[in-house]
Amino acid sequence: MPKLTINSEKCKGCLLCASVCPKKILERSNESLNKKGYYPVTITDQEKCIGCAMCATMCPDCVITVEK
Ligand code: SF4
Ligand code: SF4
Repeated sequence: MPKLTINSEKCKGCLLCASVCPKKILERSNESLNKKGYYPVTITDQEKCIGCAMCATMCPDCVITVEK
């Protein structure tokens, strides 16, 4: 199964990654602010991830890493 790693402290919650995810499994967390003062993106269902890495490609801040 592909493994998604999100560097939450670098995320600015812009959701560009979520907008391109074909599985719609990326959402902004509404629970904890990161040190930058943003709600970082989280993966809602890791099992549905197909490892396409569209999210990682789209992120302007290189927050997401996808390992196959
Ligand atoms: S690798 Fe693809 S399926 Fe998985 S979270 Fe990123 S965009 Fe969505
Ligand atoms: S992971 Fe990148 S593209 Fe996604 S919300 Fe965070 S900063 Fe934006």
